[in-house]
Amino acid sequence: MDKAQQILNSVYGYDSFRPLQKDIIDYVVSGHDALVLMPTGGGKSVCYQIPALMLEGVAIVVSPLISLMKDQVDALQANGIAAEAMNSNNDEYINGAIRERCQRGEIKILYISPERLMGELPWLRQFVHVSMFAIDEAHCVSQWGHDFRPEYTQLGTLKDSFPHVPILALTATADKITKADILGQLRLSEPRVFISSFDRPNLSLDVRKAYRKRERIRTILEVIARHKNESGIIYCLSRKGTEEMAAELTKYGISAGVYHAGLPAQERIQIQDDFINDRINVICATIAFGMGIDKSNIRYVIHNNLPKSIESFYQEIGRGGRDGLPAETILFYNLQDLITLRKFAEESGQRDINIEKLKRMQEYAESQVCRRRILLNYFGETTDCSCGNCDVCKNPPQHFDGTIIVQKALSAIKRADEQVGFTLVTDILKGTMSPAVAAKGLHTLKTFGAGRDITAGDWHAYLLQMLQRGYIEIAYNEDSHLKVTSLGEDVLYGRKQAELSVIVREDLRVTKRKRQEQLPHSPSEIQTPDQQLSEKLRELRLTIAHEIKKPAYIVLSDRALQSLAMMKPTNLFLLGHCFGIGEHKKEQFGERFVELICHHLGVERSPEPFEPTENLPFPDAVEPAIENASSNKELSYMNQQKRINANAYSPWTDEDENTLRSLYRQGKTVKELAIILQRNEGSIRSRLRKIGLI
Ligand code: ADP
Ligand code: ZN
Repeated sequence: MDKAQQILNSVYGYDSFRPLQKDIIDYVVSGHDALVLMPTGGGKSVCYQIPALMLEGVAIVVSPLISLMKDQVDALQANGIAAEAMNSNNDEYINGAIRERCQRGEIKILYISPERLMGELPWLRQFVHVSMFAIDEAHCVSQWGHDFRPEYTQLGTLKDSFPHVPILALTATADKITKADILGQLRLSEPRVFISSFDRPNLSLDVRKAYRKRERIRTILEVIARHKNESGIIYCLSRKGTEEMAAELTKYGISAGVYHAGLPAQERIQIQDDFINDRINVICATIAFGMGIDKSNIRYVIHNNLPKSIESFYQEIGRGGRDGLPAETILFYNLQDLITLRKFAEESGQRDINIEKLKRMQEYAESQVCRRRILLNYFGETTDCSCGNCDVCKNPPQHFDGTIIVQKALSAIKRADEQVGFTLVTDILKGTMSPAVAAKGLHTLKTFGAGRDITAGDWHAYLLQMLQRGYIEIAYNEDSHLKVTSLGEDVLYGRKQAELSVIVREDLRVTKRKRQEQLPHSPSEIQTPDQQLSEKLRELRLTIAHEIKKPAYIVLSDRALQSLAMMKPTNLFLLGHCFGIGEHKKEQFGERFVELICHHLGVERSPEPFEPTENLPFPDAVEPAIENASSNKELSYMNQQKRINANAYSPWTDEDENTLRSLYRQGKTVKELAIILQRNEGSIRSRLRKIGLI
């Protein structure tokens, strides 16, 4: 087996590479420089970690944030890889010890901050065999970007000091200027640029035109209930907004953390830490939250307010589902936010750019076509996809002749001399005697109450549609009053018809989903045995996390947990075949998970299929980096594989075939079937074909 593939299996416990990962690894291992553009959660880390394990010497990884370094080092150590971080947070005594271990070649991957690296260069040159440099968050080198770090510009000298050491630069920022800047500033030599798709298909996209707070809170509560004991972020526009949201959730018995730049540093660190370690599940935050967070199992990201640009939006939702499992994103969209953000943009230094960015964000929120298409197009990936995982694809908009509705609204605006904003227009249409209506004498208008039959929430949604379709515009410089456009006049005076799209009722959506999901709030007494097992596995993961003082997702990812719940391995051998469980994790906590599963199933532990009798050397795979992986275990795995291969040609009994059929129908994959039935995958596939299942 290919060495990179073998490391992916045995160290990380993953089956296959994601697109481009293997190409990047091969390219770097062959000694070349490269730039990798991959979205957050795309899997950049393995692109330099696996070469680091394959090449001789110490790989130096430059990373700007100490918290990110720590997370990566924790994750690597949890997989049994000798990784360390050298930074100003460490005691100098510890840094000294790390230096010595690097010199002795005992460390494979060293994380270091850019400023520190510059100071360590003479030492590195003289005493360390450097295998490669990885420059993470490489966009920090660009002054055009949002995270410019002056220390990064010095990295340009690396090529002079180490002309023959490959440099791999990685970033999730995709724009052209940044890309050119990285290549130029780092002076990469004949670099290849790898650009992966920025699509994150596991993130569902949903926009709600929720006008009332009550409605939003209800939606948020449902999301939280659907993700009991799971993590999520609710982004709010202002500090006050975060506090109000948390207070509101508290009324429903949900303890949510608050995070914004106005809090004392100590408190911010504490909350972030509580979130990472699953002591707090819900965070109400401003966009200040998230930069230093690598938590892979965030299951939902809600935007209580419209973000100011698609870039920010994409970066924020990108924090969800980094482990590749489904994560929900919901954006609440309303006119008030639009007006507020527009004001910010007007007052900002870069008015025109910011207004344009806001418009593009608005286009996303108003889209009548697949929302993923809008996002990807924004990042320059032209596609005409219908993703099936956004609200537009799931509930394609239905149109109707909305001429009369539009005329009513336009007439109300005209009769109020175009001196009203959307709240007042709604009041007029609904015939609501609000103080502002009374003060301005608007109740005397002919259109007062002309739209009683439509709810205020629906009027709000229709007004948004009218704005998007160009029947009205907002005069931002005139107290955000609404104005009728010439297209609007054509409709008002009957020269043109107006199309509107049917509003999807929130409560209909909810009942539909509830039916589909059979009660998100399922109390524990009606949990299925599988759900109970998942809960128990999650608890054990948390217990272990506390013991080793690491975040739960470092112990095992959510996907690994799911894989355990599905495969229900009753011995270490089977456990080792679950997703995300490499040799090291199997050895460290495997027994405890197997024990729990056997206990839950009420079965005896199955014998390990093979016990090695002698310590044969492990051919072509003794991996200096995997120092903790016992060769016995690997040997047993190899021998097991051999046995499976031998078994491939033994005849299929009826019983085998029946088992195959029923397991296949339960949704087991070919790989899982191969393990359970002790045959190779080819043999499983051909049998499935023979009995007409594939
Ligand atoms: P990035 O640095 O690009 O934001 P990461 O490197 O943190 O992303 O990877 C995101 C998640 O995907 C991590 O949990 C990582 O372990 C997982 N991952 C990466 N490559 C694979 C793969 N080939 N198969 C399965 N999971 C993977
Ligand atoms: Zn879609």
